[in-house]
Parts: sequence; C-alpha cells; structure tokens
Amino acid sequence: MDERTLTYAKELARLIQTPTTVLSDTVYFEKFHEVLWEIFPNIKAQTEIKKIFGNALLIKWKGKTDKNPLMLMGHQDGAPVNEEGWDVPPFSGEIKDGKIWGRGAIDDKNTVYLSLKAIDELIGEGFVPETDVYFASSDNEEAAGEGTPHILEYLQENGIKPAIVIDEGGAVVTDIFSMVKKPVAAIGIIEKGFGVYKFTAKSHGGHTTTPPKNTPFERLSAFITDISKHNYFKPKMTKEVVAMISGISGATNGIVSFVLKHIKLLKPIITPILPKLDPFFKALLSTTITFTMAGGSELPNVIPNEAYVVANTRYASHFTVADGEKLFKKLAKKHDIEFENIMARDATPVVDINSESYKFVENCVKQVYKDCAVIPYVVFGATDCRYMFNVSPCALRFTPFRLSSEQMSKMHADNENVDASALPEGVDFFKLLISTYKG
Ligand SMILES: [Zn+2]
Repeated sequence: MDERTLTYAKELARLIQTPTTVLSDTVYFEKFHEVLWEIFPNIKAQTEIKKIFGNALLIKWKGKTDKNPLMLMGHQDGAPVNEEGWDVPPFSGEIKDGKIWGRGAIDDKNTVYLSLKAIDELIGEGFVPETDVYFASSDNEEAAGEGTPHILEYLQENGIKPAIVIDEGGAVVTDIFSMVKKPVAAIGIIEKGFGVYKFTAKSHGGHTTTPPKNTPFERLSAFITDISKHNYFKPKMTKEVVAMISGISGATNGIVSFVLKHIKLLKPIITPILPKLDPFFKALLSTTITFTMAGGSELPNVIPNEAYVVANTRYASHFTVADGEKLFKKLAKKHDIEFENIMARDATPVVDINSESYKFVENCVKQVYKDCAVIPYVVFGATDCRYMFNVSPCALRFTPFRLSSEQMSKMHADNENVDASALPEGVDFFKLLISTYKG
C-alpha cells in the first residue's frame, strides 16, 4: 500500500472506529463530528458548519459566486450490527488484506470520507471554487429519519438550489454480470417508488371444529395467489432503462453486445422475456410487490375475527401509486378484503441524461475511471437523494468507489469491507468535479 492510500485508509478507519449507527445516542454523533474536524482541519477552519435538527450537518464552502451551487451528500449513521457474525469487531476499522473492515465502510462513511477529503485537500491547496460547494449529511438516513427533510427545508427557506447533487446509491461495480467484461460506473438517475400496504380479511370468528367457508386466511391466500399468478405489473422498457442497457453494451462482446446496443429496436421482443430470466430484470422493468408480514388469531383453534398481511411495493416510473391503489381496490373487492395505505410514494423524476449537468458529471467519471463503462442507472432502494429533486434538476446517486458484487452484498450485513486501493481514485473524482465545475 503506498503512503497516500495508507493515510486515507487510516483516516477512513478512524471514522469507522467512531461508532454511529442509526440506534446511537446523540453523544456518539457529537464525538463523530469532533473526529471529522480533527481529520479535516481546513474544513473546520474555512467553511460554515451548521448543525440542523440534532446532528445532521450542512457545510458551506463559499465560492466566487453563489450561482448554481454544487452539493455533495453522505450520511453519518450506519445500519445496526450483530457482533456475532463478524470476523473482526464491527467497529475495529481493521486494515488487513488491503481492505478496511467495519460498519459504514461501504454505507456510507466512505462517501462521507471521500467528499470531505476532496474539499479539505482543495482548501489546503488554496483553491477557491467558482461557486458555493455544500456538503449535506443526515444522522438518521437508515431510519428514513428527519435529518435530510430538515436540510431540504433549510435549502428551500434560503433559496439554495444546487444545480448538481451527488449522493450515495451508485458505484463502480467491478463484476456486475458475468457477460459484462469491464467494470461499470453506475450513476443513479432515478429511484423507484415505495409503498407499504396492509390487507385485512374479517370474519365472525368461530371454532376450528366446524370451519365455515372462506375463512380470513383463505381469502388472503386467494388474493396473494391472484397477485403472484397474474401479471398485473406490466414490464416496460422506459427511457431510463433503455439508456442503462444500451450503456452496458460497450462492455460486452459478440451477440450480447449487438442485442444490447439495439435494445430500442428490439424492445417489443425483449421486454416480456427479460423479467422471466432474472429477478433483477423483473425489478428493473416493473413494479414489484412482496408480502412480508402476517397476523391472525392468538390461538391455534380459534378462527381469527381479523387476519392481515402486509406487502411492500416498489414502484417503477411508469406505474404510479394511484395505479397501484386502483388495482388493490379492485382486487380487495374481488376477494372480500380491505386494504389500507400505510405509506406510499411514487418513483422520483428521472434526471435528464442529455442535460449539461449530467454530461459534466459523466465526463468527470469517464476521466477518472477510464477502464469503465459509464452508465445511467435505476436505483431500486431508497437514498436521501430522493428529497433533493425538490431543489435540484440533477440529483444523482454515485459514490466514486470500486466495489465487487460480493462487497456490495455486505451492505447492512456482517463483514462490511472496502478496498483501500479504491480510496485515492474516489478523492480524485471529487477533486476533479469540484475544481472543474464552472457553476
Ligand atoms: Zn446508505
């Protein structure tokens, strides 16, 4: 490990060693802030640091103007840990086999580190940005908490409209599919929507010795079977999916490359086939629903007065919450059950990949990750970035970090780790982005 990489690795390790999970008390975040200002003294000395709603942070580095500011984001909290499953203590920040281990290594202390390191180094080099640069950081992203909504409120109250926002949610994946021969730098341009629904079947109860017809669970299971048998959520090759798939074509060979490159023409043939090949494509092309919770009687011999199932829906951009609720209403009536919207939101707007802002970010990625295919990407999960389309037309999800699929699978899991060798490139990316951004 060269000296620069080792310094970065040790500093990221310090952030991991200062535990801040979504369950941590406020003192842990205060300690985390102290460590940040020790590692990034130039930021402490030369930017405006504002604490918002508890321990969320909004840092402003003043540029030559305040027009079209740039905003980076990364959250301070990590998922909770179960120590038993870890090969190293989860907050040890151990550096071994060229990797840094611990909670937050991928999600999301690496993003926090890279963004702040780039700013700190540029300040140290005497650089003054063309326009204001912000860093926004929630302390409760993992609980979909109030940090970022309050940051958004502050931005709106103060008329701050970042032209570009970059948060977590995309990465440089070194082995995305076996047929893809190059690493893929995936820039998230849209997030799928999210819904939680409760479906309840009622009855007059009764004893299991003389069961009536159509008990609550029979109706609920008929409903679940109906949903899983029928293709109610039609797949569609939306423009963002076409852009993503054609982007991958350059990283493949032979017939696969040909097919992907001409995906727009082949849409009618391919769209119905893809979801059947792999759950990934199903999630990419359509809205999905998964039943996750259930409840009924307190005793095995009592028919429940009320039984319920809860489902989690992930909305594609072409199927809205209103479409979903129309469908659930119809099916609920058919199966004699009731449905309740616990919470739901549509997919975010799609960032225009032909816009100057997107092209600028894409070009910075291409300059740093020369060996990679750079593609726009549909984010299935939720990030804090989704709030920012309210103030920015170009809210993107991209952590400049090389990760293997195996490393990505450790997100929120045991043995989270990252390669130290990926750190310098990540800092270089943010430095290039900030130093060449003209506002
Ligand atoms: Zn995260």
